[in-house]
Amino acid sequence: MSTRRVIEPGRTIGVLGGGQLGRMMALAGRNMGYRFVTLDPTPDSPCGQVADLQIKAPYHDVEAAKQLAAQSDVITYEFENVDAEVTALLMRDSYVPQGSQLLYTTQHRLREKRAIEAAGVQVAPYVEIVSAEQLRTEVERFGTPCVLKTAMGGYDGKGQWVIRTLAEVDEAFATLSRARTDLVLEKFIAFERELSVIAARNPSGEVVTFPVAENIHVNNILHASIVPARISCEIAERAEQMAQKIAAALGVIGLLAVEMFLTADGELFVNELAPRPHNSGHYTMDACRTSQFEQHVRAICDLPLGSPALLTPVVMVNLLGQHVAPTLAWSQTRDASLDGAGLTAKLHLYGKQEAKAQRKMGHINLLCADVEYALSWIKQSNIWEDQHDA
Ligand code: AMP
Repeated sequence: MSTRRVIEPGRTIGVLGGGQLGRMMALAGRNMGYRFVTLDPTPDSPCGQVADLQIKAPYHDVEAAKQLAAQSDVITYEFENVDAEVTALLMRDSYVPQGSQLLYTTQHRLREKRAIEAAGVQVAPYVEIVSAEQLRTEVERFGTPCVLKTAMGGYDGKGQWVIRTLAEVDEAFATLSRARTDLVLEKFIAFERELSVIAARNPSGEVVTFPVAENIHVNNILHASIVPARISCEIAERAEQMAQKIAAALGVIGLLAVEMFLTADGELFVNELAPRPHNSGHYTMDACRTSQFEQHVRAICDLPLGSPALLTPVVMVNLLGQHVAPTLAWSQTRDASLDGAGLTAKLHLYGKQEAKAQRKMGHINLLCADVEYALSWIKQSNIWEDQHDA
């Protein structure tokens, strides 16, 4: 039933997954007059708290997916590891404008890399790995360091092994083989900066990109996004064009986040894609004319896309479990107004019960005249000390 149609305000959007991305999507969509139903196993999930209804069941529960389909005029998802059987069922019983092909491609690193290359965009040199002996040969050919990754299921650095010496080959292969998925070896890119671009495309074929974000990762988890990225206009333009090219070639509907490496000599390599709102796009909530979440709703409902224009420089900084208590303490002090400092802090919390270490609990958008000032404020506040020492 996946033919093009406009979904009007008042209709119900079903979201597979009830995490923070679904929550922020629902908050934006509610402002636009839509209703929301979400499917998630966690009671009182971040999205469930702001949706009209939460169906509490595992993501792969076929009966629950049928219920979601019955209640929704359009269905989207907030993560890419959606079960193929569930996707097929949702497409049969409801309207899933994003389709199944994009999920199929982005669920698997090898398929994803081939699709990016087919779009005429560069990825880091890679090779499929099928045995420890072949891995040894390829590590010798690429040189160390290089990165062995599982093709499916990895996130935030999980399912990866940076191979620094040949002595690690057997252990790396044995460990990642346990994931029972294909393996891929990548050349290690000595990047100068990590960038991301979020593209939006609607069924009418309109494509819009948000300004390039410069991303700082700590322990493989996003720590901060800096916008504008500290790169030349020429590189920013090239990065946006690459994202547009991939979004068009893959026939994306909704959002596509494109993560890239920038090398010192100005080369850009795409690292990975995510067919959904992305942590590195949270800055758009306070700093752009249209947020990534509103844009996603517009795109899947086939409304005209909104302006992605940047209203102010911004630094988005993530709040992990260990940052919540110091942030709450700070937010109740007079200092939190940042009076006279040329900064405005917008605190977003996701409504998660337990502030476990390394768990994404919220973020702050620091609207600023100068990103260096916002970065120095982050450094000298005592909230993110663990990130600076890492
Ligand atoms: P990924 O799960 O592919 O996004 O990788 C997580 C992080 O590991 C990236 O954000 C990079 O900081 C680092 N990384 C991954 N692949 C490479 C690579 N081929 N070269 C250098 N760094 C990498």
